[in-house]
Amino acid sequence: MVIVKGPELLRYSFPGSHPLTSVRLERFYERLERELGNASGVRFIKPRMASEEELTLFHTARYVEYVKRMCERGYGYLDYGDTPAYRGGYEAASYVVGSTLELCRLVLRGETKRGFNPMGGLHHARRDTAGGFCIFNDVGVAIHYLLDRHGLKRVAYVDIDAHHGDGVCYDFYSDERVIFADIHQDGRTLYPGTGFEHEIGEGNAKGLKLNIPLPPYAGDEEFIQAFGRIEEFLGKHEFDIILFQCGADGLMGDPITNLQYSPRAHEHAAKRLLELSERKCGGRIIAMGGGGYNPDNVAAAWMAVVKTFAEY
Ligand SMILES: [Zn+2]
Repeated sequence: MVIVKGPELLRYSFPGSHPLTSVRLERFYERLERELGNASGVRFIKPRMASEEELTLFHTARYVEYVKRMCERGYGYLDYGDTPAYRGGYEAASYVVGSTLELCRLVLRGETKRGFNPMGGLHHARRDTAGGFCIFNDVGVAIHYLLDRHGLKRVAYVDIDAHHGDGVCYDFYSDERVIFADIHQDGRTLYPGTGFEHEIGEGNAKGLKLNIPLPPYAGDEEFIQAFGRIEEFLGKHEFDIILFQCGADGLMGDPITNLQYSPRAHEHAAKRLLELSERKCGGRIIAMGGGGYNPDNVAAAWMAVVKTFAEY
């Protein structure tokens, strides 16, 4: 498997007492080095920046310019108060997107089957706005890159972050080329307040979006049961690659959510998706780190995914 590693991703770090800082990624890289630094099944690549042209595969040109201008100015918010503009933020966010695209490229070329971008999975950014700590939506850009640039027919996106992946759900809500499945804390009790059972897609994509809200304080047992529904759902459809947002903020002790998973949840999901990918799409799967605001939890959850992918 291939993992993106480099200081450029650490620059995606909001100033002051913001919950999303580079500490979480540093904690993960430390554990990765210690436990898988010499593992034969793991190859590291450097982050690369996405071009403006790539960013506009998903985002509007106007929004890309706005982010650039706001980050040059270096203060204020890119949304209504969750996602600050800071100097270097535009470049940092572009590195996150470029890194996910680079993994897509390597997988499409057959150089590897599995990839992980720990800073990726910025699933709240919309085509024309930031949201929930997410400046650019690397998943959204990657989906267009895979479908429009490289001719894949269908992408399966699975999201286990504690928050609903609204930027992917609604910006592809009527796109039948995107199979979407998301387990998250009930939107009535957590940001972004969306992702209800009745939201199943529309038009040609009706029935191709699966939203599974869990009540606050749900743990591994509820997660594993819900994940069975995702397996059944994906089993019914055909797709060419799996994109897996494995946010770690559902683990017990996260400061901003109320779920109570253990890293077993991530291990379970990674194992089942790996099996599915082998069965349905030539083993092609790319994971992205997503949220998680307790650094030890983040390192534990992501290590569970990476070890599964590396068959370590
Ligand atoms: Zn989250």
